[in-house]
Amino acid sequence: MKNFERTLVLIKPDGVERGLIGEVIRRFERVGLKLVAIKMLKPGREQVDRHYALTEEWMKGVFNKAKTKYDERGEKFPYTDHVSYGTHIKDGLVEFLCSAPIVAMVWEGEQSVALVRKLAGTTEPAGAAPGTIRGDLSLDSYTLSNGQERPIRNIVHASGAVAEADHEIAVWFTESEIVSYAHVNDPVLYDAKRFK
Ligand code: GDP
Repeated sequence: MKNFERTLVLIKPDGVERGLIGEVIRRFERVGLKLVAIKMLKPGREQVDRHYALTEEWMKGVFNKAKTKYDERGEKFPYTDHVSYGTHIKDGLVEFLCSAPIVAMVWEGEQSVALVRKLAGTTEPAGAAPGTIRGDLSLDSYTLSNGQERPIRNIVHASGAVAEADHEIAVWFTESEIVSYAHVNDPVLYDAKRFK
């Protein structure tokens, strides 16, 4: 069997405390992805710091994504500087993720990075499509979270790109914590000769 892509998922403290661990796992299991690592932990600051690297690109990304949503809704985006906006969100994320237990997981399968992002939905739950984890299971918004000066509570984190996934998996798991096993899905999903 070929080596399939791996992606990192975190169930954030809001997902854990709302009892949504099983619901989140169910969605990735039923699409056919394979769970190859899982742990529950209350992370330390340093670990979350390594996970969310405060780069210029990341700060511009969060700033522009939020500004676009405010603009689309005809609301005034009251922030002007991507560095202070991004830094504030990053500080809030460190506080949020360190405040209570989270679940870290690695999911494996064909194009798993993009697939898991699709199932997770867009950053803001209020605007996320129905059928997605964020769209179905939460109602938080930019307006509510920014008004309360805290990060959006959107249940899960999912790696955004393959290189990002490789970096993030190494933040939460050692190689020996990631397992390999045959799943009954494997032949049905991936064996070219299975239905001949
Ligand atoms: P993701 O890939 O969809 O998780 O989004 P990002 O990587 O851009 O941001 C990381 C996390 O920071 C998000 O999941 C939210 O919890 C939070 N966040 C991002 N942008 C904003 C924002 O504009 N306002 C607030 N309050 N939180 C944000």
